[in-house]
Amino acid sequence: MEIHKTINGVRQLVRSWKKANLTVGVVPTMGFLHEGHASLIKRAKAENDRVVATIFVNPTQFGPNEDLATYPRDWDHDVSLCEKLGVDSIFNPEPAEMYPSPFFTEVEVPELSLELCGASRPGHFKGVCLVVTKLFHITEPHKAYFGLKDAQQYFILKRLAADLNLDVTLVPCPIVREPDGLALSSRNSYLNPVERQAATVLNKALTAAKEAIDKGERNVKTLLDMIADIVAGEPLAKLDYVQAVETVGLTPVTRIEGECLVAAAMWMGKTRLIDNFVYLWRKN
Ligand code: AMP
Repeated sequence: MEIHKTINGVRQLVRSWKKANLTVGVVPTMGFLHEGHASLIKRAKAENDRVVATIFVNPTQFGPNEDLATYPRDWDHDVSLCEKLGVDSIFNPEPAEMYPSPFFTEVEVPELSLELCGASRPGHFKGVCLVVTKLFHITEPHKAYFGLKDAQQYFILKRLAADLNLDVTLVPCPIVREPDGLALSSRNSYLNPVERQAATVLNKALTAAKEAIDKGERNVKTLLDMIADIVAGEPLAKLDYVQAVETVGLTPVTRIEGECLVAAAMWMGKTRLIDNFVYLWRKN
């Protein structure tokens, strides 16, 4: 496994692979890797001749009052997990490699960044779009792997790739969960044992809504109220938002029809957690 810290280094490696007609998959991450990241890497390994994992805590996607400084890191663990999973190269640039001064360019899909996490985290998806565009240009992958844990991110990046004719296929991967339903997240490491237990409420609430849709409930207000009520039943939890949107323009819907994303974020102490489900409803 080759570790590259420079754009030129990883670019030369990928170009040598492509010259040999090998296919390349990329898995962008911020490190502190867990089984959710591992599922993306395994999928990339299964579908490509070579896999690059990028590990970069991207400063441009953090707001001024967010957790950039404290974001968890464990380089040795990340390297050994990537090695074990058969990653061919890790790209791990310093911020100055990605954002040399001066740097002025922005990349944005504003229409899709208005709701959900876009409303709670102004500028976040602008940072994501910028870094992922750069990572695509640097690693020139055939396929790129993203978790539906960050469903809005996936839908935004899919639109970005289509609008800019990027020659890469985005592969959405299912959410990996703890046995009690909590979605795996690097930020779960911030939770103390009591918060960790209480954090299961988010998935419980979403699962209850999903079951209600299965039973025929289509009214979004009823569903969102149900989720909010269940989260409110957990004294340690504070709901940030819960919304249902269609999956093309990410605009709010009033009834569950076609493909909808039902997503929520909550605060558990100082930790912000997100979860969601995508529901495909067809008239029989
Ligand atoms: P992050 O390191 O948090 O930026 O995540 C890197 C990639 O891993 C993103 O595409 C995430 O959506 C994905 N990911 C994070 N957690 C999970 C999870 N529990 N299940 C599936 N994918 C995940």
